[in-house]
Amino acid sequence: MAATTDATIQAMLDRAAGEGIDLAWDRYQKQLPQCGFGELGLCCRHCLQGPCRIDPFGQGPALGVCGADRDTMAARGLGRAVAAGTAAHGGHAKHMAHTLLAAAQGKAPDYPIRDEAKLRRVAARLGIATEGREAAAVAAEVARAALAEFSEKETPLAWAAGTVTPGRVATFARHGVVPCGIDSTVSEMMHRTTYGVDADPVNLLLGAVKCALADYAACHLATDLADILFGTPSPVATRANLGVLKASAVNIALHGHNPLLSDLVAQVAGDPALVAQAQAAGAADGINVVGICCTGNEIMVRHGIPLATSSVSQETALVTGAVDALVVDYQCVMPSLASVADCFHTRVITTMPMAKLPRALHLELTEGEARATAFRIVGEAIAAFRQRNPARVQIPDGSVAAVAGFSAEAIVGALALLDQDDPLKPLVDNIAAGNIYGVCLFAGCNTVKVPQDANYTRMIEILAGHNVLILATGCASGAFARHGFMSPAATDRYAGDGLKAVLTAVGQAAGLGGPLPLVLHMGSCVDNSRAADVAVAVANRLGVDLDRLPLVASAPEPVTEKAVAIGTWAMAAGIPTHLGVAPPVLGSPAVTRVLTATVKDLFGGWLLVEPDPEKAAQALLAVLAERRQGLGLSA
Ligand code: SF4
Ligand code: SF4
Repeated sequence: MAATTDATIQAMLDRAAGEGIDLAWDRYQKQLPQCGFGELGLCCRHCLQGPCRIDPFGQGPALGVCGADRDTMAARGLGRAVAAGTAAHGGHAKHMAHTLLAAAQGKAPDYPIRDEAKLRRVAARLGIATEGREAAAVAAEVARAALAEFSEKETPLAWAAGTVTPGRVATFARHGVVPCGIDSTVSEMMHRTTYGVDADPVNLLLGAVKCALADYAACHLATDLADILFGTPSPVATRANLGVLKASAVNIALHGHNPLLSDLVAQVAGDPALVAQAQAAGAADGINVVGICCTGNEIMVRHGIPLATSSVSQETALVTGAVDALVVDYQCVMPSLASVADCFHTRVITTMPMAKLPRALHLELTEGEARATAFRIVGEAIAAFRQRNPARVQIPDGSVAAVAGFSAEAIVGALALLDQDDPLKPLVDNIAAGNIYGVCLFAGCNTVKVPQDANYTRMIEILAGHNVLILATGCASGAFARHGFMSPAATDRYAGDGLKAVLTAVGQAAGLGGPLPLVLHMGSCVDNSRAADVAVAVANRLGVDLDRLPLVASAPEPVTEKAVAIGTWAMAAGIPTHLGVAPPVLGSPAVTRVLTATVKDLFGGWLLVEPDPEKAAQALLAVLAERRQGLGLSA
C-alpha cells in the first residue's frame, strides 16, 4: 500500500528512508499485526483486575472478570473516546474564554477585539445586552457566560441549545441527551464508564451522544471566540504543500490547534526589525511562516498563511531540512517530532504548560506577554537559521494555489451578492433545481491506515461530478488544498455542470472573474460548527429539521478521539456521517447495529462505515437521493 498520494510528501519519505529516519508509516509497520481485540473494541482496562478480553469467535471468554460483555465493552470504549475528544475541544475553548476575559479586563493587551460585530451578535444570541455598551463590557460578559458553560448548570448549554434548530432541541430533550456543562458531561462519561457503573450499551451510547453534544458546544464556542479575538475569516488566496517552504527564508512552521499563539507569530513575522534580522542572517526572503494541521488552518483562513502539510505527514516538514523552528501548541503533535528534528538543525518549541516534548525548548505562552513570546520565538528561528546546513535542504517543487476562508458569514455574504434581501434563497433554489444535488462536509484527519489523501481525492471527484457542494475543515481541507482541489481551476475541471454554474455565478458576483473554488474551506476542526451554522440557517429558512436536509458528512481518513466526538454529534444532528476507518466497536454486533441503523430512528443521522472511497461516494449519493425525495425534489 502506498503511504501517500502527495508527491511532495513522497519525496520526503524517500529521503527519510534513504537516511534511516523512521516516520509514522515505518512505526506503523513495526506495530503490525495490530491487536485484533483492540481493533474490535473487545478489550477493557478500566480496572486493575484487567486487562480483560472477549473472544470475538465465541470460543474463549465471553465476559470480563466483572461480567462486562462485548456490548458493554464496545459502548464504554466509544464513550471514553468521545469524552477524550470533548475534553480536548473543551480545553481549547476554555483557553479562548479565559483569554477573552483577560482581554476584556485589560490584562491581555496583545489580544484586542478584532470583530466587534461578531462579539455583539454572539452576545445577542446569549441574551446579553449590547445596546450602548462598550465592547469590553460586552466581551467580559460573553467570556463569563462561556466559562459558565464548563461546569454543571441548571440550564442546557447555551452554545448547543442556542445554535441548533428548534426541532433538534426537542429531539435531544426527548432522548435525554441535553448537556448542561462541558466539563461536567465529560466527567459524567468517565464516571459512567468506570468499574461497575453503566453496563447497558444503549444507555452508554446515549451518554456518548450527550457528551458529543457538549463537544459540539465546545467547538462552537471556540470558533465564536476565535473570530471575536482574531477576526472572522473571509476568502483569501494562498498556497499549499511542502513546496511552500523557502530555501531563502527563515521558515517557521506553526502546528497544533489553538490560534492564541500562532496568530501572534503570524502577526509579528512581518515586523521590519525581525525581517531585517533574518536578512542579516542570510535569509534574503526574510521570514516565511507556514502552517501544519489545525493551527495551520486557523492562520490559513484568517491570514492566507500557506499550509505545508497535515496530520500524518507532519514529520515530513522537518525532513526537508528547511524548517528552522517548529512551534507547537497542543493536539495532534506527534511525540516523535523532537527525534526527527535531531537529524537536522530545527528548533522544536513547545508553548503550552500542559503539552511539552522531551528535549524541546519551552517558551510558555502567557496572556500578558503573548507578543513578547512571539518575538522571542521568531528570534529563536533566526538563530536556528544561522545553524542551517544549506546542503541538507531539499524542498520539493511545486506548491499549488488555494483559496481559503469560507466562514458561514463569508458564504452568506457571497450569496447576498445574488439576493441581498434573502441570501439563502439562491442556495435553496439551486438545491431545489438540482444544480446543487446536496452538500457534503468533509472533516477529519489523515491516517497511516489509508494511502494519505486517497479517499478524499477519489470521493471529491465523484461527488463534485454529481453536483455535490463540498465544504471542508481540519486536515480534510489540508488534503484538498495540497492536491489543488481548493481552487477555481478545480471547479472548472471537476464540478458537474449545475454546480459549476452556481459556483461561477457567485464567483462572478464577488468580482473574482471566475468560479468559487471547488472546496469551501471553513477552517479547523472546531470550525465544523461553521458548517452546522449554515445547515441550521438553511433548515430554519425551509422550516424543516436538519435530518431532512440533503446534507452528509464524511471523515474518510479519521484518527483522533476528537474525530469520534465530532462524528457522533454530526450523527445526532441528523447528518448521515461516513467514516473510512471503522471505530473500535465492530466486535459488538449490537453496538454496531445501533450506530449504523437504529440511531437513524432516534436522531435521523447514522454512521456509514465504508473503507472503499468509490463505494462510500456512491452510498452518500444514495443518501442524498433519499433526502431529496423526502423533500419532494428530483432524485
Ligand atoms: S472493568 Fe471489568 S472488564 Fe474491565 S478490566 Fe475491570 S474486570 Fe475487566
Ligand atoms: S483533522 Fe484530525 S489530525 Fe488533523 S488536526 Fe484535526 S484532529 Fe488533528
